[in-house]
Amino acid sequence: MTVRRKLIAGNWKMNASFASNEELLKGLSAGFQQLCTEAGKESMPDVLVCPPAPYWAAVNILLEGSGIEQGAQDVSEHAKGAYTGELSVSMLQEFKLKHVILGHSERRRDQFQTDRLVSLKVAQVVQAGMTPLVCVGETQAEREQGLTQAIIKRQVLSALSLLPVDFDGVVVAYEPIWAIGTGLTATPEMAQEVHGYIRGLLEQRTTHAHALRILYGGSMNAQNAKALLSQPDVDGGLIGSAALSSSDFLSIIAAAVARNP
Ligand code: PEP
Repeated sequence: MTVRRKLIAGNWKMNASFASNEELLKGLSAGFQQLCTEAGKESMPDVLVCPPAPYWAAVNILLEGSGIEQGAQDVSEHAKGAYTGELSVSMLQEFKLKHVILGHSERRRDQFQTDRLVSLKVAQVVQAGMTPLVCVGETQAEREQGLTQAIIKRQVLSALSLLPVDFDGVVVAYEPIWAIGTGLTATPEMAQEVHGYIRGLLEQRTTHAHALRILYGGSMNAQNAKALLSQPDVDGGLIGSAALSSSDFLSIIAAAVARNP
């Protein structure tokens, strides 16, 4: 049986300042070190924070030696050139970023990102040897109409459509749109049902499907994290609001510590 190390990723969205980053990351690093000492490094989940780009240099310094990694919230599908306001994969690499959130529902909604565009970004990131966190999820109306699986299937297969057969190194984040920033959360059973379905879709595309991590995102917090993370196909969390408080984020990290029976 493959043991997938859990991944807890914080999406800061457009929330940051030099002062608040320093306070948050000092608390987070100290708490993370303490957890490592108590639980042992091997039992710890991978932890990632995704701040806005202007803070990458400062955050790299704040995270130095902490064992916590930094990722990006989006990246251009182009390598370089006349694309005002965009950031390229090579720019992320200059800041030693290895992970990037792609196709977040807020980018799909506010920047009109299509499935096709997301697939181009995913291909660009994988080709560069980086790891995309590919976000998929249905709206409340789509769930009520029984369309959840159809939406997830379309988004997952499209996002992966330009990758070679047997690809590896992709993370999928199931983020039901109705649960993002609303305080509503999928029940552990609802999350597992969709995660199991996503695992099946991954199996259609790669023999590495069993090793790929599928994260849950949507109002995950200190109270509900443990039950969600106990599901067999929930391999971590993509966290918005609760990632802005070191104590809340640390509680979620603690809930993801692997417990030996
Ligand atoms: C998100 O935006 O990826 C997210 C999961 O946000 P929240 O945790 O605030 O619902």
